[in-house]
Amino acid sequence: RKFPGDFSNNPMQRNTPKVVFATINPAGFDHPQLIAFNEALSEEIGLGKYEEKDLGFLVGNGLPENIQPYATAYAGHQFGNWAGQLGDGRAIFAGEIINDTGKRTEIQWKGAGATPYSRHADGRAVLRSSVREYLMSEAMYHLRVPTTRALSLAFTGEDVVRDMMYNGNPQLEKGAVVIRTAESFLRFGHFELMSAQREYKTLQELADFTIENYYPEITSTDQQKYKDFFENICIRTANLIIEWFRVGFVHGVMNTDNMSVLGLTIDYGPYSMMDEYDLNFTPNTTDLPGRRYAFGKQGQIAQWNLWQLANALHPLIKDEKFLEDTLNHFGSYFWENHDKMLCQKFGFDQLREDDEEFFTNWQALMQELQLDYTLFFNELERLSDNTHSPEYFKQLSYLPWDQEKQRKLENFFTSYQNRVSLNVISKEDSLMIMRKANPKFILRNYLLYECIEEISQGSTEMLEKLTKALENPYEELYPEFSTKRPTGYNGISGCSTL
Ligand code: AMP
Ligand code: MG
Ligand code: MG
Repeated sequence: RKFPGDFSNNPMQRNTPKVVFATINPAGFDHPQLIAFNEALSEEIGLGKYEEKDLGFLVGNGLPENIQPYATAYAGHQFGNWAGQLGDGRAIFAGEIINDTGKRTEIQWKGAGATPYSRHADGRAVLRSSVREYLMSEAMYHLRVPTTRALSLAFTGEDVVRDMMYNGNPQLEKGAVVIRTAESFLRFGHFELMSAQREYKTLQELADFTIENYYPEITSTDQQKYKDFFENICIRTANLIIEWFRVGFVHGVMNTDNMSVLGLTIDYGPYSMMDEYDLNFTPNTTDLPGRRYAFGKQGQIAQWNLWQLANALHPLIKDEKFLEDTLNHFGSYFWENHDKMLCQKFGFDQLREDDEEFFTNWQALMQELQLDYTLFFNELERLSDNTHSPEYFKQLSYLPWDQEKQRKLENFFTSYQNRVSLNVISKEDSLMIMRKANPKFILRNYLLYECIEEISQGSTEMLEKLTKALENPYEELYPEFSTKRPTGYNGISGCSTL
């Protein structure tokens, strides 16, 4: 359905011309209950302080008249196959708000009810997926990774039926709604849908809209404008994935409908932070045995997704050579900047000729010794400022330790010292670079699991503690959170997105 009105003068609503979207009201819930509210974000976007009377709004109840909620439609490639139109079945826009500085923020409920795009599904979300989206998107923000954000988390007061894949029995779970925010939620899939429907005029209007509002750096006109648009999306996407590599984030479902046109991390489903370093790691149990979306493949997959976007934008660009060259350039841009990122994690002054070989050897070592990715770099800092000896590293392995492993590690340290000695920056500067690039706290999957268990049992103590920790990820506020994943949690996957 196409929305007929023009709301461009309404501060809470902006019309995306002729993009397929539908007005829809949230289902409404009689007994909502607040779990968490993000005061800082609320103030920042111009919504102000939370008051008790706002509780209904958090789940989409009793909306003021100037809010006309709507849902957008998009398509996508899922696990490498064209899946046609598939979203958005459970994200409803409240609209857009503008703060004092003129910054615009879109606001969405996730799980507040079915939309015309829900197909056979219920438009609801359960507690575990909502807690995971709420906490992880904020964790990513504070890690300085581009992302959508989370404003609130509330129970709907309604039970939701979920058919748990592992036992096939329908179970009742508590329903919850997250309000999430972003400069824009536009995805590759929005462009793919218009293109697949041969709505080229609308495709062009959508591209113009996106460039005008979110790519102010593009000043060219005509066909060049769309070329610059595609090139910029490639750069932003590369930069995003490099940031995922920096902090050890695995998205888990990099379908093109989960790719932001603004280069944001979007749609927190079966994601996970990586504990032991493993390029083949995927938290997504539906991605086995192929491991299409494994940690180490994310750059390559982003390029594949950009290729699909290139196809979708082809009617506007019509220059295959340009599109191919740009996609090829993505590869070289990605690896060069990926390696520059690794230089920062290791405290190197600049990318030098032999660094690629150094990184390759390091990767093999991490993989073989199953060392914890985050703790490894924290420990490397302690080695560099002489507070710890190399002996400490054996505690970071998820494997039984032996002399052979110790020897390999010490060999690595020798090559590391050799490389550090080439630095033209001071030791202090090198340490500063490392501390900025390497988080001390990451939101590990087992912590999320424990937190969700506690909330289900009525306690938000851990939620509050994790919130403090994730707001200060480059400090060690709670030493008990800066340890390896405890044994016994090995089998916990990223959990389903439902
Ligand atoms: P995902 O694989 O999680 O990105 O989901 C793909 C699409 O499925 C989403 O964009 C939604 O439109 C739809 N979807 C997922 N869960 C639900 C649900 N409970 N109700 C309606 N639609 C859903
Ligand atoms: Mg999605
Ligand atoms: Mg999802």
